[in-house]
Amino acid sequence: MLDKVLIANRGEIALRILRACKELGIKTVAVHSKVDRDLLHVRLADESICIGPNPSAQSYLNIPAIISAAELTDTSAIHPGYGFLAENADFAEQVERSGFTFIGPKAETIRLMGDKVSAIKAMKAAGVPTVPGSNGPVPTDPEECIRVANEIGFPVIIKAAAGGGGRGMRVVHNEGSLLKSISITQSEAGSYFGDSTVYMEKFLQNPRHVEVQILADGQGNAVHLYDRDCSLQRRHQKVLEEAPAPMLDETSRQACFKACVDACIKINYRGAGTFEFLYEDGRFYFIEMNTRVQVEHPVTEMVTGVDIVKEQLRIASGLKLSMKQEDIKLNGHAVESRINAEDSKTFMPCPGRVDYFHAPGGMGVRVDSHLYSGYTVPPTYDSMIAKIICHAPDRTAALKRLSGALDETFIDGIKTNIELQKELANDANFIAGGVNIHYLEKKLGL
Ligand code: ADP
Repeated sequence: MLDKVLIANRGEIALRILRACKELGIKTVAVHSKVDRDLLHVRLADESICIGPNPSAQSYLNIPAIISAAELTDTSAIHPGYGFLAENADFAEQVERSGFTFIGPKAETIRLMGDKVSAIKAMKAAGVPTVPGSNGPVPTDPEECIRVANEIGFPVIIKAAAGGGGRGMRVVHNEGSLLKSISITQSEAGSYFGDSTVYMEKFLQNPRHVEVQILADGQGNAVHLYDRDCSLQRRHQKVLEEAPAPMLDETSRQACFKACVDACIKINYRGAGTFEFLYEDGRFYFIEMNTRVQVEHPVTEMVTGVDIVKEQLRIASGLKLSMKQEDIKLNGHAVESRINAEDSKTFMPCPGRVDYFHAPGGMGVRVDSHLYSGYTVPPTYDSMIAKIICHAPDRTAALKRLSGALDETFIDGIKTNIELQKELANDANFIAGGVNIHYLEKKLGL
């Protein structure tokens, strides 16, 4: 087992990783920006190092500073969490070249999946169902572009190959605006991501967002941990997630699980990962793979009993998967509310001092959060401050439990989205199940 892990992240996920390390007897190193010295995991880690000023570019994205911290503390491995450097292939490469273990897939896998064009190609070749599209970058010849779009059928969506975070996408409804939309998306992609490559896909009108969690050891073994539904989104950001995904066509679902596992073996995947799909009319369409632990991983942990972060640490230690597919049984239903420090009307981040924090409790209630009374949420980073996860024997009971847990949550001093989360936990259409990715924005009148 690894001896010492440096946690190259902050907030709730840094604490989540620290907890897993502690349970496995692994020593921890916290690295943090100046403003983050009072983070809970920094206080709890065996060692901590300030790696730079507050802007992420100078701290959590500062590769030399992170690698120096690993050297200074004689770390054996680096866990990137999610966001920041988690899907940066150059970082993974430099970590390994410096003699440390990167807790995640090989750099070449991250690179393959980080470029959506190459990811879709690889997944299609491995038998994963994909969205009908341009099968590569859009053609350079305008006439050919129009032909391809007509063949796919309007509406189409133009997407940046290097895109992420819901940026660099544009829906096109007719031939007339196609070429202009392509060139705008190309220049946006160039300035956001430093790569102006774009591709074209059929725009699915009312899909759900369903994803499949997998674990693979890079030694020929891979399993799936079933699915999650993350259709409740605002501006492509997930707001409330659940596992398993309700009301899917069981035949397509099982075929999709099998395709994901087969693909992992085919590309010799190592670590935890997520295949993201759009699901419409009983069919799955692959959109991208995330090569890291995801924010919503706890719902899967609750229904499978598998500790995904511990498995990541075991795999990085060179151990084989500790379970076989037939060992993984679904137990009940889990839901997760992402609690953000934000204004309930404008959704603008609302950082500030948390005067008082009371976390909910009781059977089947899990809180993943770095908050404590007196903690100041800095304005510099993501506004997510807590995840409230509820597990119960069935979906209705899980949502009821979530509603109660949200009633018990008190965060004074800053604005949060708790009221919106309560509304969602009690929303009749959501409770009925199977709402699509537009549901939340429609409900909000956006
Ligand atoms: P990102 O990496 O930026 O998150 P994704 O490819 O995962 O980009 O897409 C993000 C979201 O955009 C999806 O969850 C969905 O809401 C929407 N989207 C992407 N592709 C399509 C498509 N072909 N049809 C309809 N909606 C899409």
